[in-house]
Amino acid sequence: MPAMTNLIWNPLALKWIARAPERISRPTGKTGACPLCPGNEEMTPPETWALRPEGSFPDTEGWLVRAVPNLYPAVTGPGMSHEVIVHSPNHCRDLAVASLEEATHVVQAWSARLDAFKSNPATKFAQISVNHGRAAGASLEHPHSQAIALSQIPPIAEAELLSTSISCPICQLLQEAKQNLFLRELEGLAALCPPWSEHPYEILIAPRDHQSAFERSGLEIQVAELLTNLLAALTESVSVEAYNVVLHTAPNTPKGSEFHWHIHAFGRVGTYAGIELGAGLPISMIDPARAAEALKGVKPL
Ligand SMILES: [Zn+2]
Ligand SMILES: [Zn+2]
Ligand SMILES: [Zn+2]
Repeated sequence: MPAMTNLIWNPLALKWIARAPERISRPTGKTGACPLCPGNEEMTPPETWALRPEGSFPDTEGWLVRAVPNLYPAVTGPGMSHEVIVHSPNHCRDLAVASLEEATHVVQAWSARLDAFKSNPATKFAQISVNHGRAAGASLEHPHSQAIALSQIPPIAEAELLSTSISCPICQLLQEAKQNLFLRELEGLAALCPPWSEHPYEILIAPRDHQSAFERSGLEIQVAELLTNLLAALTESVSVEAYNVVLHTAPNTPKGSEFHWHIHAFGRVGTYAGIELGAGLPISMIDPARAAEALKGVKPL
């Protein structure tokens, strides 16, 4: 284990735990001013990245998208970062209702922060995630993403690196999945409900070519269009109030070049209980074909 990090090794379950007790006191945004709204820039640590009009100063109003260190980081230590990417100056502008330009700005911020994190050789893994709604783990209402950098490759990425580098299940899925599972295709990107869906209305977005690094793909506009479209379907056609989006890009190791980048998006309905937590066996309650049918229902995808 590297020195000075907050990672604890669980030798019984053979996995890392991030010990961050201060996160229990992070604000919920239910009372007081929103720390992510414009005008409240002094409530966050200094920004690490922002999309701003020329001539506007860091940590002042005027930004379109803004990245700041998380005041209550889940991870600390060499090669580790935890940032918040604020999607919009508008407190209610979710990705599901964003314009293509607004969503593209967010996805460009994801690329920029992943690139910055991975320029540090001590960082072995970086991930972007969105928690929308209380049931999905969002503590603040203002639309934002979490960007983390870790000095270890966590178990899910380790498994995905192993599988995609041997006989890639994503390539195979995109070639062989039944047509009714596909939601939409856009310039080399495909979105579908995978047959192995674990969560309700689970969506996988991936390039048809076996590309390792999202931040090098140049597909930000296409990703933005697919994501806003699909999240709108998720929230409107199937009335899912809480969802997560997770972007998995190549781990920052030599073997990472064999990864196939992709995005998971899924609804949060119900909660994990004894079987899921105790046996590590997720229970899939919505058939992926039915999920695809429902997601295609309202809007022409
Ligand atoms: Zn706000
Ligand atoms: Zn592949
Ligand atoms: Zn993944």
